Amino acid sequence: MATAAAEPWRALLDEGREDERLVRQAFEGARRAVLAPLPDDVHPTLLKGLRDAGVSELYRHQAVAWETFPESPFVVTTGTASGKSMCFNLPALDVLCTDAKARALYLYPTKALAQDQARAIASFRLGRHVRPAIYDGDTKREERTAIRKRSNLILTNPDMLHMGILPNHAAWGDFFANLAVVVVDEAHVYRGVFGSHVGNVLRRLRRVCAAYGVEPRFMMASATIANPVELAEGLTGLEGVAHIDEDGSPGAAREIAMWNPPLTDEALQTRRSALGEAADMVRDLVVSGARTICFVKSRKGVELVAKLVADQLADAHPALRDRVAPYRAGYTPQQRRELEARLVSGDLLAVVTTDALELGIDIGALDAAVVVTFPGTVASLKQMWGRAGRRGRGFAVYIAGEDALDQFFCRHPDEFLGRPVEAAIINYENEQIHDPHLLCAAHEFPIVPERDAETLGPRVRLHCEHLEAQGHFVQRGGSFALRKPEDYPAARVSLRSGSPDAFGVVDLSSGELLGSVDAARAFTTVHDGAIYLHMGRSYSVRELDVHGRRALVEPFGGNYYTQPKKETDTYIERLLDRRSTMGVTLSFGMVSVSETVVAYQRKRLPDHEPIDLNGLDLPETTFTTQALWYEPDASLLAEDFPLELLLGTLHAVEHSQIAVLPLLAMCDRWDIGGLSTNIHPQTGGPTIFIYDGHPGGVGITQQGFIGFERLVADAYRLITECRCERGCPSCVQSPKCGNLNDPLAKDGAGEMLRRMLDR
Ligand SMILES: [Zn+2]
Ligand SMILES: [Zn+2]
Repeated sequence: MATAAAEPWRALLDEGREDERLVRQAFEGARRAVLAPLPDDVHPTLLKGLRDAGVSELYRHQAVAWETFPESPFVVTTGTASGKSMCFNLPALDVLCTDAKARALYLYPTKALAQDQARAIASFRLGRHVRPAIYDGDTKREERTAIRKRSNLILTNPDMLHMGILPNHAAWGDFFANLAVVVVDEAHVYRGVFGSHVGNVLRRLRRVCAAYGVEPRFMMASATIANPVELAEGLTGLEGVAHIDEDGSPGAAREIAMWNPPLTDEALQTRRSALGEAADMVRDLVVSGARTICFVKSRKGVELVAKLVADQLADAHPALRDRVAPYRAGYTPQQRRELEARLVSGDLLAVVTTDALELGIDIGALDAAVVVTFPGTVASLKQMWGRAGRRGRGFAVYIAGEDALDQFFCRHPDEFLGRPVEAAIINYENEQIHDPHLLCAAHEFPIVPERDAETLGPRVRLHCEHLEAQGHFVQRGGSFALRKPEDYPAARVSLRSGSPDAFGVVDLSSGELLGSVDAARAFTTVHDGAIYLHMGRSYSVRELDVHGRRALVEPFGGNYYTQPKKETDTYIERLLDRRSTMGVTLSFGMVSVSETVVAYQRKRLPDHEPIDLNGLDLPETTFTTQALWYEPDASLLAEDFPLELLLGTLHAVEHSQIAVLPLLAMCDRWDIGGLSTNIHPQTGGPTIFIYDGHPGGVGITQQGFIGFERLVADAYRLITECRCERGCPSCVQSPKCGNLNDPLAKDGAGEMLRRMLDR
């Protein structure tokens, strides 16, 4: 075992302290395990299975879960790798061992996580008592009937439950009639739009169970969030959910580092890219033998970091080159499983990935976790950091990006490290989400409001009458049924954007299917001429076949990348709220947003110089969402702002407010869009729009409307604290600007915000 002196990150920290890349350092002390004996009323087969698998004692929270299970539903929120799975496995497997007819349902947000859990359950070797099976989009048609008949523990995802299982409950009749236990793991993932959908799916599940005469018991697990009970009750519609949060597992001592890449130009305030900095850090950690996981936000970034590390290792340490790999969704199941197996065996020393979710429970034991740029919430940052702690010690790093919010945090590091975890918000009654699920529910069984209010919500009659008026429902003898009984509404409802109609990516040189891209991102990432990175290799897109839903690509060896340019229009559909403040008329309501990707820019590497701009001919996409917008009073800007300055000013103010909105509402700046114009056809004057990037909206911009004064003050701080001369990515430039950051007037924006604050 390594000794303290050999900690592989010691030299890195010393270096960073010397050249000031290390902004702040913090420590988390180790935590001692609190153990409890295995309960003696566990079924003997399970007891033996546990002992054979090396489980001879429980952590305290696992024992608490065992005691809570017969009393009430619960949600457990102990830390990463604290053995949360045992909290629900012990009661669930015990039920299956005790009752030969009982069935259990486990829900995971990703296929990879379901596979990990299936592996873990199989390791207890419970033979004929527990017969787990994964039932998801990868399950072969010919195996499905056999699984329904034979398996008593189904692992699936909410999408499959929604689209494949609930609508076909008759074929699953035996399963539902004996469903005793439902496990919802990774519950924190179910927030925002996705969570609001899942809240409806779980209500439909409880309703179908009730029709079969059963009331399954729910067990949930979540990362640490501010409101776990509220979320668990919101997702299921259940009341009295117990909270288990006293962590009895041993915690690793962790060194935490907040890291800012060095300045490369003082005047422009440009810094070395966080990706390049991360690649160096991962390389150093790998060379010194540390098992490392590196989280990068974008898919492109993942591929880039993995390629940089591999290239650097190829020169100096060729033996290590193949022990680093990128990992992300979009790989074929076979590629995923291969990488997972190498990770678990330790054959891979470092993995670069987009998200903790795509990884499994078995890789909890790593030395270092490097998080590149702020992942959007403190809750997910802490979850990623929680991966660091092999052999009782770990190194957890946050590398700031040039993004405005990252640099804002670097100027206020204590404010950052002290930030509390966020609440996960859902709204299952969001009209755009709730109504389609009522159609799905009516397809499962006609809705009887008096009976179904318990599961579908207290306002179910109102919603049903609304759907009847729209011609979707017919009412007969107090129950609501679909007007067209042959309809299959679930097929039209996607729980998360894009997943059912992704675009395939095909390599023309080999004919091989490389992976897939979400439909929502296809036009910006695999348009004609785009450079697309996959498994550390570059491809250029020969053709995007919009109707065939596939992109044809070929290997690419050039030294440039591409950035899309798009045109956005907003149309105000409904005004919901309005007030005057700070010299502007501020509104909140529903808008429709139309986007067209019109061109792409080629940019040279490594200096990011633009090469040229190429036109594209792609269809427009449109969605309706929540937005705030405001119109400055005539006196606010007066004649001090000629047209060119006015455009740049409004645009820069829009960018800076989008950058700081995540300080008000739990979201990522990538969840928000904006548009600024000197004259909007509906308002007749200069207008700034900030809209929710999700169809229907999840309340982000409503928070912005309520806290608008804070939004103005934070944006002003962001702009005036930045020492650049004419605007940079740390203040007014945006990495997702569809106008390629043109025009932008930093001084004008600072002046406009100051005048608003003065009012
Ligand atoms: Zn700046
Ligand atoms: Zn912009």
